[in-house]
Amino acid sequence: MAVADLVAGWIEGRVDESTLVGTLHAGGFSDADALALTEVLVRSGDELDLSRLGPRTVDKHSTGGVGDGTTLLVAPLLAAAGAVVVKLSGRGLGHTGGTIDKLESVPGLRTDLRPEELLAVAGEVGCVVAAQSDRLVPGDRALYALRHATGTVAEPALIASSVMAKKLAAGARGIVLDVKTGDGAFLPARADAVALADLCVRIGSDAGRRCVALVTAMDQPLGRGVGNALEVAEAVELLAARPSGRLADLAVELAAQGLSLVRDHPVDALREELDDRWARGEARERLRAMIAAQGGDARVCDDPRAVLPRAPAVATVHAPRSGWVQAVPARAVGQLAARLGAGRTGKSDPVDPAVGVELRVEVGDRVDAGQPLGVVHARTDEAADAGAATLAALVGFADAPVAAPPTILTRVPS
Ligand code: URA
Repeated sequence: MAVADLVAGWIEGRVDESTLVGTLHAGGFSDADALALTEVLVRSGDELDLSRLGPRTVDKHSTGGVGDGTTLLVAPLLAAAGAVVVKLSGRGLGHTGGTIDKLESVPGLRTDLRPEELLAVAGEVGCVVAAQSDRLVPGDRALYALRHATGTVAEPALIASSVMAKKLAAGARGIVLDVKTGDGAFLPARADAVALADLCVRIGSDAGRRCVALVTAMDQPLGRGVGNALEVAEAVELLAARPSGRLADLAVELAAQGLSLVRDHPVDALREELDDRWARGEARERLRAMIAAQGGDARVCDDPRAVLPRAPAVATVHAPRSGWVQAVPARAVGQLAARLGAGRTGKSDPVDPAVGVELRVEVGDRVDAGQPLGVVHARTDEAADAGAATLAALVGFADAPVAAPPTILTRVPS
């Protein structure tokens, strides 16, 4: 029996778990399997009806990264440009962060919004970011837990149907995907990431949605902050001006690609428009309005470090030598932040919003001995010192100049 039929039967209690697990382990699924499985997962629960929000609804999804606060930038940027974003996000798991954990570091902010509340905030502000509801794609939650428990997560057809079922059920007309590749990604090999992006785009198009994907590097953390409040602070600080840098540049590109799906303008013109809107503070105002509408303390947009929780212990890591930064491994930095308390190993573990790592360097930077490489934020002095020792050992150096690697590797379709 095809995997989609097995999953449908398992959800309905007609197929036993061991039969499904045997098929998951055997793997080798086709694109047709992925399309059929997506449909089964979408049908397992409710779907959001965004029709009253107009034709310019856009959703964005990342396959999971470290220091990846793009949603906090892309959602308000798109809203500033007249699109409407209803974004259902996840929590961090393992070495990767999750937008819901990040947003919940803002005092008072609620992420458990009912469908009517989602539509009301999106209608009023232009963007809303909330937790995945239990009633949307419950089949994916059950199947993902089974895949996690049986070590069958890293199968492209299963990942594509899991991601796209959630996007299709969330109802947006345009869907922009950020498929990560490299050391910190689910699928480290670039060819696998491109194949995943291609399959996701085909599933979206097959379902009548407009869909585009960027395949982007996750060899080093994307932003400087890795940890929940640290990432919110970074996003808010970036929105005060239009800085250059990997995180800000990728956010503009994702927003421009997403906007191009619902507005008939060349991407170059949209990119310029978004840069201008960002520089004029329009995206920061959208974020402020969204935070206020979700019950959060909107003063975070003026003075994030005064409003957000702060870790009691910090330790700065200094460069042991001069040279060029060659590596800041994303997975290991994410694991360090998770060990400090920023992440979780089980889905319901609590996270510490204040702790994490703030990097001061990235690959390609020239550094002098003694220069700060990063700051570890921890609950205790012991944890901060241990974290600093770990971070010091992770940053790799070269004696000769190292070229800053590109972040955006390819677009699908090209
Ligand atoms: N993200 C998802 O939503 N599903 C997967 O299977 C993997 C990453």
